Amino acid sequence: MSPAVPGRAASGRAAHVKPPRHLADLDVAGRRAWVEEMGHPKMRAGQLSTHYFAHLTAAPAAMTDLPQNLREHLAATFLPPLLTEVASREADGGATVKTLFHLFDGAAIETVTMAYPDRVTVCVSSQAGCGMGCPFCATGKLGLRRNLSAAEMVEQVRLAAALAQERELGRLSNVVFMGMGEPLANYGPLVRALRAISEAPPAGLGISARNLTVSTCGLVPAMGQLAEEGLPVRLAVSLHAPDDEARNTLVPVNRRWGVAAVLGAAFAYHKATARRVSVEYALIRGINDQKWRASLLAERLTRYGTGWVHVNPIPLNPVEGSIWTASLPEVEATFVETLREAGLTVTLRDTRGREIDGACGQLAAKEENQDG
Ligand code: SF4
Repeated sequence: MSPAVPGRAASGRAAHVKPPRHLADLDVAGRRAWVEEMGHPKMRAGQLSTHYFAHLTAAPAAMTDLPQNLREHLAATFLPPLLTEVASREADGGATVKTLFHLFDGAAIETVTMAYPDRVTVCVSSQAGCGMGCPFCATGKLGLRRNLSAAEMVEQVRLAAALAQERELGRLSNVVFMGMGEPLANYGPLVRALRAISEAPPAGLGISARNLTVSTCGLVPAMGQLAEEGLPVRLAVSLHAPDDEARNTLVPVNRRWGVAAVLGAAFAYHKATARRVSVEYALIRGINDQKWRASLLAERLTRYGTGWVHVNPIPLNPVEGSIWTASLPEVEATFVETLREAGLTVTLRDTRGREIDGACGQLAAKEENQDG
């Protein structure tokens, strides 16, 4: 179910095209049923799943356990190509790789793979563009083009896992849905993707659900629904302001579900899943970085205690041509200190990939602008 938030469709673009059906759109029973429906023995579903989810390949040549004359046909039918790489940029000596993909209909999305000493994380997109209209965000400026299918999300993760393996960066261990789009506005496909990513191979990619993070700008009904899925994924709430006045501007959906409702749903998520919720806070100079706002944020969070939440202030990654810019370092330090003094756990998020247009949507926004 998508929450009843109307997406802002970019003008003149098709919003309802469906990507090709793919094995990763379905659960194990659905995969078997589809393969049989197409006239093949159901064991083929398991063989194809092993190649895709366990061996991370969709290349027919690698499928030597399938009859040679059928390999191309089976791969093209059940594992159709979904993403075409159009550009790739690297930073941090190759530890950060940002890739711009085109989907089958030409829509552009971005995926960023980041290798750290103790983990490899991929940041994936859940929509092409975004309909939430946050004014400081490059993706928000694009409007919503369309929702991604479950397989289009899973495929970003599979390619990142293959890339990490190929470059010997380590095993892909974490997935964050913090790329383009509002994941909870694409609810059904998102949950199918989370299951396919977290199930053990060959049913899925075998990345623990505890290492998956879903970020939301605060779609309260869908937050409640996610809490009931039995998937212990981490929830990250993009709060960006502790008061409705500022948040109504920074995150327009706040006019529908205000700060109190969003924090209430975040705490309920923690109660239901026993997972600590992350609160994301982009520090924007002179807009939301005042000490009194840090105190108000602390007050609103500690109302529920301190152990349920982790605050991640993020220095804003400025979007080209935008009036919004990052807070001054001393202001940032005071903000963090104020939260810590209130007993909250705070981690200043790093800004990996800043020099390669690291904020969500910046590479795709650039491409759209070049295209006119
Ligand atoms: S910040 Fe997130 S929810 Fe807001 S417009 Fe950008 S991608 Fe969408």
